[in-house]
Amino acid sequence: MEKNYRVLLYYHYVTIEDPEQFAADHLEFCKSLGLKGRILVANEGVNGTVSGTVEQTQAYIDAMNNDPMFQDMPFKIDEAEGHAFKKMHCRPRPELVNLSLEDDVNPHEITGEYLDPKDFYQKMQQEDTVILDARNDYEYDLGHFRGAIRPDIETFRELPDWVRDNKEMLEGKQILTYCTGGIRCEKFSGWLKREGFDNVGQLHGGIATYSKDPEVQGQLWDGQMYVFDERISVPINQVEHNVVGKDYFTGEPCERYVNCANPECNKQIIISEENEHKYMRGCTHECRVHPRNRYVQEQDLTEEQVQERLDALKEENAQAL
Ligand SMILES: [Zn+2]
Repeated sequence: MEKNYRVLLYYHYVTIEDPEQFAADHLEFCKSLGLKGRILVANEGVNGTVSGTVEQTQAYIDAMNNDPMFQDMPFKIDEAEGHAFKKMHCRPRPELVNLSLEDDVNPHEITGEYLDPKDFYQKMQQEDTVILDARNDYEYDLGHFRGAIRPDIETFRELPDWVRDNKEMLEGKQILTYCTGGIRCEKFSGWLKREGFDNVGQLHGGIATYSKDPEVQGQLWDGQMYVFDERISVPINQVEHNVVGKDYFTGEPCERYVNCANPECNKQIIISEENEHKYMRGCTHECRVHPRNRYVQEQDLTEEQVQERLDALKEENAQAL
């Protein structure tokens, strides 16, 4: 199938005087081009993902790069079969990435060494290297660099505390950090340096850039990369594909992310289609029997049918014991 659409991923740390006004104007501009997506605007810069036709996205790139503020802003471009978002949002925010630091880091003042994909690939394989995933746990679980540490945290903003608690793991090592598009590492690697770690490198342009490097071709990446749009995951390693995702219930290899059908839970879980039906897309018993379970509503299940599935699960549990 011919891919007439593209998804753009980009960020730029640059001072924006009035983020509210900028966001309002920029939203109108994006809508006038026919784009859909999500853009955050802060005093410290912009961070966005948008989708549109090749023409629409090209018009956006050209307009941005014609603006002196964004003339050197790089775009990561994925081909797509359609829009990756339902709507266009552009919102002002206090900061672009939430590290919740008492004392913020300005990447223009302090940041880790920028490593291009080839450098990063080579350094990953050196002795005394620690590869640190600077993303959330559910992103790591779907795919990550081989041998990378998965900090035991739920969200990115817990990372500084985790580092302080696990100093011995990192001291005296060459630390490599990476994230989806590079924006989180700009701050996080700068924070690591400020904490006293000298040898810190960051994957410039993130995993998204790494996957497209003609030489490296995404090698040493296992699984898929989680993305924050309707695609949910995209392939990275062009040479080999290992599945690292595991089914939430059975632990079998699986790369299919869904949200728990309990609207009050909404937890992202990796499950096969078969198990989605079996467990009524609920991560726990409470979520399965929640009165507003979305799976039950979508499938139009009767009370009896719900009970049948719950009984089947109970029986299976009893057998397993
Ligand atoms: Zn749940």
